[in-house]
Amino acid sequence: MIVVLSGAPGAGKGTQGDLLAARCGFRKISTGDALRNQVKLKTQIGLKAEAIMATGNLVPDGVLFEILRTELGTRKDERILLDGYPRNVNQAETLSTLGDVHPVAGVIHLDVKRENLVRRLSGRRVCSKCGATYNVEYKAPKRESVCDNCGGEVAQRADDQADKVAVRLDVFSTSTEPVFDFYRRRSLYTRLDGEGDTEEVFSRLQEVVHRLLKT
Ligand code: AMP
Repeated sequence: MIVVLSGAPGAGKGTQGDLLAARCGFRKISTGDALRNQVKLKTQIGLKAEAIMATGNLVPDGVLFEILRTELGTRKDERILLDGYPRNVNQAETLSTLGDVHPVAGVIHLDVKRENLVRRLSGRRVCSKCGATYNVEYKAPKRESVCDNCGGEVAQRADDQADKVAVRLDVFSTSTEPVFDFYRRRSLYTRLDGEGDTEEVFSRLQEVVHRLLKT
C-alpha cells in the first residue's frame, strides 16, 4: 500500500518522509530524487529531465510513469511512502491504474504558508554527495559549504533560486492543488499543519499515518 506525502516545495516532505521511513518501516520513493539520480548518471531520461527541472516546471508525465513503475516494483506487501508524485490529476489517475498491487491508503498534504516556504527554500543548501540538507538561517553546516556528514560540497540547488522557486510554487497551485480535490472526493485526503519544528510535525504526521494503517 501507498501513503502519499504531498505539499508545496519546501513543505518538508523530504525530511518527514525520511523520518517515516526510518521509524515506521516505510520504503520512501521520491520522484525528485529519482530524477536527480538519472541526471547525475546522464541517462536518456536524465538528459531529457535536466533542463526542465532547472526551470522549476514539471517533467512530462510519460517520463514520470516510467520512473514510478520501476521504483514501485511488484511487491504487494510493502508500505511505500510516495514523495513528489502525483503532481497533477493525470498522474493521480495513472496511479489509480496500479491500484491492484499498490492501493493508495491516503494522501497527506503538509500545509505550510507561502512566506515560510520561500524562506525555507531560499536558505536551503544540499550536499551534492550524500543529499544531507542544511539551511543557512537555522541549520548551517559547521564549516561553510562542507557537509558535516561526509565532507561533500554543500550548495544551493539550481531550482532553489528565487525565480525558480516562484515558478515551482505556481506549478504547485495550478497543477498539484487540484490533486487534493481528486482524493478528497475519494475520502483519501488529509490536510496536516506543516508549520513548527520537525519533531512537532512528525508527531502529527505519525498520528495520521497510524490511522491510515488501521483502516
Ligand atoms: P522535488 O525534489 O520533489 O521538488 O522535485 C524536483 C523537480 O523534479 C520538480 O520541480 C520537477 O521538475 C521534477 N519532478 C519531481 N516529481 C515530479 C512529478 N511527479 N512530475 C513531474 N515532475 C516532477
